[in-house]
Amino acid sequence: MLPVIYSDEFLEHKTGYLHPEKPERLIAITTALKAATFASEIEWRSPTPVDRRHLMPLLLEVHTQDYIDKVREIARSGGGYIDTDTAISPRSYDVALLAVSAWLDGVDAVLETGNPAFVLARPPGHHAEKNDGMGFCLFANAAIAALYALKQPGINRVAILDWDVHHGNGTQAIVETNPQIAYCSLHQYPCYPGTGKASETGFHNNVLNLPIPPGSDLSVYQPLFEKKVVPFLSDFQPDLLIVSAGYDANAADPLARINLQPQDYGLFTDYCLGITRKILFGLEGGYDLTALSQSVVATIERCLI
Ligand SMILES: [Zn+2]
Repeated sequence: MLPVIYSDEFLEHKTGYLHPEKPERLIAITTALKAATFASEIEWRSPTPVDRRHLMPLLLEVHTQDYIDKVREIARSGGGYIDTDTAISPRSYDVALLAVSAWLDGVDAVLETGNPAFVLARPPGHHAEKNDGMGFCLFANAAIAALYALKQPGINRVAILDWDVHHGNGTQAIVETNPQIAYCSLHQYPCYPGTGKASETGFHNNVLNLPIPPGSDLSVYQPLFEKKVVPFLSDFQPDLLIVSAGYDANAADPLARINLQPQDYGLFTDYCLGITRKILFGLEGGYDLTALSQSVVATIERCLI
């Protein structure tokens, strides 16, 4: 069985007409998972309600009180924008907190079973910085999950692999000073948000950035995984691997120009499973609904073999 943490409440973060980061993304994925050959092997779990978690102290380790208040106030006042492409709807603050809770549930699930789990939540998080939301992201889900994991018994090192096509500027900025967290990102470069140069290696050589030219496909990714990503993550000997699982490097994706196919994410999953089975996958980007849902299916399918 593979736990998938999901709630229909994640559909209530509304981003507006024609926005690519839309609720239909989750509907496409859950529909595909329920139709998959392995559907009976998925254990659907609801996230822990926010009022049953003490999220604020943890959130304040990552974000400023001013920023958290700003997101809440924009939502409470009927909605608006935190930057030009990052919308906040009336329920977005509550939904974004529930997304954080879901990522923490994902950590709990992996540590409890010793096997992978998948968090299907939105909004995504890897662009969210300490004092700013951007790039469709409000709270830094992956970084918060990593800090939460480090508070659990026996967890001393957490690695984050970010295969979203965009660099996770927010995650990197939050974790690069922490020697107990390693961060590795493969991303199209040049591309939004403009960070993620190979020369950005973290304060403890704990960051590995692999910029990839537009037009690249698996023939570029595969050797990078084998020669760079796997050795970097294996050498770190993580007690937990968090994957910022964005699927916008698909050829069909409208937001970038990398030419992966959905099944390629199955191969990437195999590489991760070769490092550890304690893997939390959490959804980041991915905007072509068919390619997105096929890619999540490919990821989970490999975990069940
Ligand atoms: Zn992305």
